[in-house]
Amino acid sequence: ATDASPAEDISADDIFIAVKTTKKFHQSRLNLLLDTWISRNMQQTYIFTDGEDEELKKKVGSHAINTNCSAAHSRQALSCKMAVEYDKFIESGKKWFCHVDDDNYVNTRTLVKLLSHYPHTQDMYIGKPSLDRPIEATERLGDNKMRPVNFWFATGGAGFCVSRGLALKMSPWASGGHFMNTAEKIRLPDDCTIGYIIESVLGVPLTRSNFFHSHLENLQQVSRSELHKQVRCERMSVRRFTVRIELNYLSELIGKGCLFLSRICLFQITLSYGMFENKRNIINMKGAFPVEEDPSRFKSVHCLLYPDTPWCPLQVAY
Ligand code: UDP
Ligand code: MN
Repeated sequence: ATDASPAEDISADDIFIAVKTTKKFHQSRLNLLLDTWISRNMQQTYIFTDGEDEELKKKVGSHAINTNCSAAHSRQALSCKMAVEYDKFIESGKKWFCHVDDDNYVNTRTLVKLLSHYPHTQDMYIGKPSLDRPIEATERLGDNKMRPVNFWFATGGAGFCVSRGLALKMSPWASGGHFMNTAEKIRLPDDCTIGYIIESVLGVPLTRSNFFHSHLENLQQVSRSELHKQVRCERMSVRRFTVRIELNYLSELIGKGCLFLSRICLFQITLSYGMFENKRNIINMKGAFPVEEDPSRFKSVHCLLYPDTPWCPLQVAY
């Protein structure tokens, strides 16, 4: 984790970020993302939805993509969207494909730093495993034959990334109409199908990252102090940093998943929010806005990362 030399010098423009949404969430979820992290990453973000929306078109133009997939929450509808995301990425020529849901905040600065660790021409599949063991599925081989398969997959709801090199190899199972057929073979959701193609068919292992977060985990544990350290660290050179901070604090930061790259200490890449057992599952932070005004905490996170945002309070205490 202390290796300071990136494998490849990439910028945010080399990343294709696909946001999966549905028309009924344009107001309640997507607008929050457009006001926060997407506003700073318009060029690399593409929104995959299932209905026409003139307001959305006005805001992002051709970056709003109507997949014409069904607006149902069915396996088929979700696979249909993932298939379009994949095809658009291939068409884009960009180096990295990253998928997120419409309840994810993406810190693109940390995302760029993480991906800089790996050459995009190699086979890379990076994300947070959905389960603590490989999923056990049944592959339909035709002729009514079946075969058990085990593989790891990254939770779509935490976001995951695939290198261009690997994405090109996925083509026979993922491009055009193939993705839907592949998904039908194992009858599992879209993110599982990605894991199946990569791990089971192509034999490429998932690279685990603890920097991706979904609302399936307890988000309270992604503490305010970590976010706050991230912002402070981003402003400190390692020189000043090592002079001012003792060694055990440094190793504590590394232990918590801090990457020291290019003189910058980095933390979380994606965040999420949701409900768990009738309680809000959100990251724990004081931030610029109270929970009532900012129930997802995304506005507060955004003001920490981009304090020059016009609607952020002038003085953010951190
Ligand atoms: N979604 C969709 N169509 C639907 C319902 C949800 O495309 O009919 C998308 C939604 O916009 C989000 C993702 O699927 O990006 C996951 O949905 P949600 O967060 O509601 O459910 P989860 O699986 O996280 O519990
Ligand atoms: Mn969700």
